[in-house]
Amino acid sequence: MTDFFSSKINYQKISHSYLFECDGSIKSNELIDNLVKQVLCTNKDKNFQCCQKCKSCHSINGLSNPDYVEVFPDDKEKIGIGSLRGDQDKNRGIINILSETALLSEAKIVKINNADLMTEEAQNYLLKILEEPPNKSYIFLLSARPHRLKPTILSRTTKIKIPPISFEKLAKENKQLDKVFYNSFAREIDISSLPKDELNNYLSLYEETIESIEEFNYSKHNILNTWNDDYLKFRLGILRETIFSVISEKLKNKEVKQKSILSTLDENRLFLFLEELITFQSLLANKVAVNRKIQLDSILDLIQ
Ligand SMILES: [Zn+2]
Repeated sequence: MTDFFSSKINYQKISHSYLFECDGSIKSNELIDNLVKQVLCTNKDKNFQCCQKCKSCHSINGLSNPDYVEVFPDDKEKIGIGSLRGDQDKNRGIINILSETALLSEAKIVKINNADLMTEEAQNYLLKILEEPPNKSYIFLLSARPHRLKPTILSRTTKIKIPPISFEKLAKENKQLDKVFYNSFAREIDISSLPKDELNNYLSLYEETIESIEEFNYSKHNILNTWNDDYLKFRLGILRETIFSVISEKLKNKEVKQKSILSTLDENRLFLFLEELITFQSLLANKVAVNRKIQLDSILDLIQ
């Protein structure tokens, strides 16, 4: 793993609290988890790389390092003061962990995921800790929307942005990738973490789907039979992105590049199509019991 943080963090002088602005992708979590491991390792090399052998490294892999605690939002998508303070019997609160002597490592770390979901009360509690951080204690806040945090918290943390993997970078690695594919995909799946063969599988599904809506290949009968599988949501996403790109080219009065069946429709019909499609997608997303084939059939009726 390339050391992403080496140019951003002075390892000789680590701050007490960091705010990582990141999208929560597997990639960004991997980077931060590795940093946690590095900080807690008791046998780091001179480049701050962890040894993988000490007790701390071992227990981090087994998720049982007593010097490290992670806080997550509850099922109401909130982080309340209780989650930070802990309860006296079972869970140690973050202040306990931070003020106690480290057990395996020489330092202690608290990581708060989706930190922007902290309630006002929780943020005030955290603020008090940030104002007087216990010795050898580090707080890592993760958030995709740091502007939702109190300015007083923001001003007491060192901000580091972990950019999402760009489409351009992915496209370079996978020549077949295009924008429609990426847009129909990125909202659902963390594409950067997909194994190569799975990505290839999606790419061939994508090609098949695009082919079936090409002007000369379009056959409603065929689509009804082939699309109604486990990948229907993915295919509908492609259809939606294709409609977007046809509409935007029509609005710019450009010759439509992609000769899909959709380019034969006028703007009004395209918008109608889009509306119907989005309704269908939300029915599927909300797991409403619908006959998928009948729904698809009635949407495709808009193409004549
Ligand atoms: Zn180690």
